[in-house]
Order: sequence, then structure tokens, then C-alpha cells
Amino acid sequence: MVFTFNLGFPRMGANRKLKRLVENFWSGKVDENTLITDAKKLREEHWLLQKNAGLDHIPSNDFSFYDQVVDHSYAFGVIPARYKNLNPGLETYFAMCRGLQKPGIDVAACKMKKWFNTNYHYIVPEFEPNQQFTLNSTKVIDEYKEAKALGIQTHPVILGPVSYLMLGKPTKDAPQGFKPIQLLDRLLSLYEELLSKLVSAGVTWIQIDEPCLVLDLPSTIKNEYVSAYNALTKVSPQLKILIATYFERIGTNLDFITDTPINAIHIDLIRAPDQLESILRRLPAKVSLSLGLVNGRNIWKTNLEVALAKAQKAIDVLGSECVFIAPSCSLLHSPHSIQSEKKIDNEILNWLSFAVEKIKKIVIISKALNNSVQSVQTELEANRKSIQSHRESARTQNPTVQQKMKALGPDMFRRKFPFHERQLSQRKKLSLPLFPTTTVGSLPQTKDIRTIRAKFKKGEINQTQYDNFIKREIEKCVHFQEEIGIDVLVHGEFERNDMVEFFGENLQGYVFSGNGWVQSYGSRCTKPPIIFGDISRPNPMTVEIIKYAQSLTDKPMKGMLTGPITMLQWSFVRDDQPRKDTAFQLALAIREEVHDLEAAGISVIQIDEPAICEGLPLRKEDWNVYLNWAVDAFLLSSTGVDCSTQIHTHMCYSDFNDIIEAIRCLDADVITIENSRSDLKLLNAFEEHEYTAEIGPGLYDIHSPRVPTKEELKVRLHAIFKYIPKNLIWANPDCGLKTREWPEVEAALKNMTDVAKEFRAIE
Ligand code: GLN
Ligand code: ZN
Repeated sequence: MVFTFNLGFPRMGANRKLKRLVENFWSGKVDENTLITDAKKLREEHWLLQKNAGLDHIPSNDFSFYDQVVDHSYAFGVIPARYKNLNPGLETYFAMCRGLQKPGIDVAACKMKKWFNTNYHYIVPEFEPNQQFTLNSTKVIDEYKEAKALGIQTHPVILGPVSYLMLGKPTKDAPQGFKPIQLLDRLLSLYEELLSKLVSAGVTWIQIDEPCLVLDLPSTIKNEYVSAYNALTKVSPQLKILIATYFERIGTNLDFITDTPINAIHIDLIRAPDQLESILRRLPAKVSLSLGLVNGRNIWKTNLEVALAKAQKAIDVLGSECVFIAPSCSLLHSPHSIQSEKKIDNEILNWLSFAVEKIKKIVIISKALNNSVQSVQTELEANRKSIQSHRESARTQNPTVQQKMKALGPDMFRRKFPFHERQLSQRKKLSLPLFPTTTVGSLPQTKDIRTIRAKFKKGEINQTQYDNFIKREIEKCVHFQEEIGIDVLVHGEFERNDMVEFFGENLQGYVFSGNGWVQSYGSRCTKPPIIFGDISRPNPMTVEIIKYAQSLTDKPMKGMLTGPITMLQWSFVRDDQPRKDTAFQLALAIREEVHDLEAAGISVIQIDEPAICEGLPLRKEDWNVYLNWAVDAFLLSSTGVDCSTQIHTHMCYSDFNDIIEAIRCLDADVITIENSRSDLKLLNAFEEHEYTAEIGPGLYDIHSPRVPTKEELKVRLHAIFKYIPKNLIWANPDCGLKTREWPEVEAALKNMTDVAKEFRAIE
């Protein structure tokens, strides 16, 4: 008998219920009691939904008002000193998540970080060398009891001690050399206490997440894993422990935990399908294996036949009683359900499955294995048909695109002239001064703009009215930029709701869900567009608007595009061809746009790639393969232009040391980067690697409404001279200004252009 197992359910609920609830609480529209009772109802709904679907192992403590990692910190009393004077409970908790400003109190939030290579962000724990741990909340126990009261035996999910410490960072004043992992022993006794309380409450299985096990780890960390799980497995003979890994292969780190008497391991067979056989060979007797067969991070239906064959392989080796069927990772990273999808047509809808549907698939797989294939004949048949319809559909195929892909030649991946020749010819054509000033692209998306766009989408105003409105916004911003003396202008991106969505809507091969929301951080969700087929560009996407903007000024106007890797990273991507092929198709479409912009007289074109680092695989040995095709995709999108056409790119905050060689290979003429929060240390990478193209290291942080003074901009620009030759430096803010208000932007950009002018005069 195989069992079904779920690692986590998306806590937002249908129509982002939790988002509204929490935001209403923050704004004072609902009180704490309502928040708590409504959240309880939501959890109940999700447990019942899983139970009614026939799932055996249902998770609890996967719910959170904000983030499971901050819950964990709060539960273990890992609360930085700056929050100690606040009221305990939700005030402290939410202050850690989002900061708190009220009379007499002004505390910033804890740092947020990307959860591995997903778009989910967690609150980074801060540990001090003499960190005390206390059981500060009974959330894990309470939620288990809540489910139990409904007659549902759940397995609580908690973050494992080793990953928890590794995901955190030392507090600011911790002495050099202190590593949070040194706190393991002290932390373990609290885990033991929590586990024994759970056992007393009736818990029989617990899921302990150790996602760090899929990373490159020093072999010394083995001792920590072994001592952790030797201790935790001793808590009670009645408690069974499953260690969950996801997002990558576990590799030889398997030994770190199989030397301890744990009961089960979960592995991701979507991101790392090849690990099954080696794990089957190495798994100790009596350890159960949870097979992550249903993709928890994408939206396509699982091919049940393929999943069944894999499960059978595991059963043949381990016996069915030691096999669990599960999603690849927590379904936190999936949208809720396709039931409320009205926007997607039936053919494509039939290929999709969100969290609710994924649970059903897991149950079907187990029924086929436990009862018989016949018992779920109808479901299997329906699945086979929809997989076939997907595979054979003419809508995913575009012969012209495929033709173009076959015709790709090496010269489509290189600029026709070397950088120094391009630089000379661009300088002549653009006649730019020293320290040319520019911005990263977007200008404030005011409430007015959002209201007008909403009206346009609802059909309350027509295309011409909308276009005219946007044109007036462009006109205003062009005049402003001319007035303060910006050298390379932007049109402000007012027509774009989002830098990926805008292009997705203009390309063929994309569809948009109405409700495919996935939690990004706290109450924020994103709705990634879906790439379902070959990508093509039926018409130019930005040429008219940029041409219009250019017609308003004699200064160069930048053409603004989103790069292929960012389009790929921030979309749900088809799984019927390698990511690289999809990236190349996107690149071809962008390339066509680049060439049309050039033909329309635009001589500066920026192709943003803020997401290039996000795509880096979790294991370093896989980096080169990815970086090679990612760089190629950028080259494919950006080359083929004239010597005098200047290609810019932009990257958000990244550790440039990791990818400096790749950045060099992008062969862009100018790169603007986000670095203003990092003490210029990042620029070391460019200096050390003798990077020779032009660079705009963001002069100020756009994430805060603060207007940088001229003095600080001067200090900053001056500091940059240490790293980058003066004739290569551009002056710009460190990212797009979309989220800012006009008064701040006006003042900040004015200071910036003034400083650039002053420095020019001195040189
Ligand atoms: N051009 C985009 C903008 O200015 C770039 C945004 C980004 O880097 N995330 O908004
Ligand atoms: Zn950016």
C-alpha cells in the first residue's frame, strides 16, 4: 500500500482570501479576532479539501500570516533586540515582517531573501552568539490540534534545525567568525521539547524540511546533520520523521541523514528526475521514500503514465509500504485552483493543473498502484487524452518559428564589431558628455495612470483615449528630462503594467490566467504569464511609442525591452521543450524588435535582464551550462545591429562576482546595475576582472522615497572612480522609478544631473 503525502498547501486560498484578510487587518478594517477566526476557517477549508480529495498525509503548520520562516523564528524566540519593546504577539510578529512606525516607535523590518531559486521571499533570521531560544508560541501544536478537532490527523511541517541556522545570518554586532550553525546544540534542545509536546498532542508523523541538503555543502556539515537527527529521532519511538528536500538533487548529501535512524526522505523528481535510481540503490532498509512526482512549481498536468512508471520502479525496490506519492515541493508555489479560471480557453485549460487539481492527481496515482489501474481507468484515460491533446495541438507549434530556430547561425550570436570600435562610433553619433546621465526606464506609475489603465481594460474608455493619455504622460516626462539635462532619455514605460506582462501580451505563445496567483512575499502575490507554445512576434511591440517619444526631443531616446531570460524566469514555462529553446524563441522575438527599433532611427536600446542571476542553478557545477545558454539568448536578442547602435542592459542587485565572466560575454555597450545598498563592494568584481565596457553603477537607492543630497551623490560618484575609469562611468539611479512619486523623482534626478555636470566641469 503506497501512501499519498502533501508537503504544503498554498495558504492564500481561492481568490487570495488571506491577502485580503491580512491587509484589512493592517489597515484596521478588521480586528485581531476576525483575523484569527477567519484564518482558522481558511485552514479548515484547506484541510477538508485535502481530506475529501482522499489524501493520506495532510500537512499542518504550512499556514502563515506572512512567511513560514519568520513564524519559526517567532516560535523559537529568535526576535532581534530592536523589537523587544513592542507588544508581544501580532504587533511584534508583523513588525519583524514589515517594520513598525507609530508614535515613539520606528523599527525597520527584518531583511527578506529569495527562498532558494523560487520567487518566494522569506524573512531572514538574525542570530547572536549568545542567542537564547525559547518556545515562544504554540502555533505548531495549536494548528495540529485544530485539525485533529475536525477529525483530521495531520503531520506538522517545520523547518529543520540545520537549514534554519544556515538560512539565517549573524546580527550586525556579532564578532567576526561567528557562524549561526555554532548554535545548533542549544537549538536542538528546543526542537526536542517541541517534538515531545507534539507527540503528547498525538502527532505520529512530522515533516522536517531540510532544503539546504540540495546545496553544495562542506563535508564538515555532515556532523551537524548527524547530531541533529540522532537527537531528534530519539525524542519518541512513536514519532516518525520525514526529511523533505526539494528544488534540486540531494546527491551525496544523502549520507548526511541516512546515517541517522530517520523514517523517510522526500526527494524532488521534477527538478532532479535522474536521482531516483541512485537513491533507490543507496537508501537504507526500512527508510521510506516520498516521490515528488507532481510538479509543485509549474502549472501543467502531470503525465500520469510516466509518474506511475517511476513509482513502480520505486515500489519494485522498496516495497509499496515504503513509498509515498507527493508533489515535488510544497504547493505553496502553485496557484490555488483552475476552477475559477474564466480567461483561459477550454483547450488550454484542459492542459493545466493548479494545487487543488495536483492533489487529485496524487490520489489517482496512489489508487492506480494500490487498487488497480482499472479502478481509475476513466481518470487515466482522461489524463492520457489531455496529455495527447497538448502534445499534438497545432496551437503550441509554429512552423515559422521552428524554421527560424533551425536557421540560427553563429553570426547571430555576435556583434559585428569589437567594443572599442563600437564605442568610438557611438560617441561620435550620440555626442555624449563625460558621465552621461540616464535612468533605468520606468518613471512613476501614478494613481492616475493605474486608474486610466483599469478603465481602458474594462472598456470604459477606448484605445484612442488611452493612447492619447499615455502620449501626454510621455510628453510631460520628456520635457522634464530635457529641462534637467538628462543625456539619454526614456519614455517612462507608462503603457506597461509590468515589464514581463506587457511583452507577454504582445507576443504569441503566451496566455494569461485570471487567478493564477502565487505568493511572493507576505500578502504580495504574482501572477506569472503562461508560455504555452512557440513564441513569435506578430507585430512590432514598442516601435510606435518609442518613435513618438523620440520625435519630441533631439536627444537620444532609449528603446526599452525586457530580455529573454527575464521573460523566461518570470513566466510559467512550457515543459515540453528545454528552457533553452524557449529562451531562444523569446530572444528571436526581441531581436526582431531591436532591429525594427534601429530601423526606426532609435540608436540606444536597453534590454533588461534583472533576472539573470535568479536563474542560476542551486549547484555550482550546473552553472556553466545555464550561463552559456543564458548569455547566448541575450546575444541572440541584442546582436545584428550597427556599430553605432548602443546596446544597454540592466541588472538588479546580484552578486556580480559570481557572474562577471558571463556579464562580459553579454558584450553590451553599457550596463546599469543596482548596487547602492552594497557599499560599492560589488564593483570590485568589475575592477578585478578588468571589465572594459561602460557601466552605470546606481548612484542612489530607488527603494526608498528619500531624496539623495548632492553631497552624498558626489561622495558616491567620487568613490566609484576608484573602481572604474572615468570615461566609462554613467550616472543613473539604481533601478526603475516606477514605484516612486514625482516630487521625489524630480528632486533626486535634478541633484543627480547637477552633480554629473559639476564633475564634468572639473575634468
Ligand atoms: N526597465 C525596467 C524599469 O525601469 C527595469 C526594472 C527592473 O530592473 N526590475 O522598471
Ligand atoms: Zn533593476
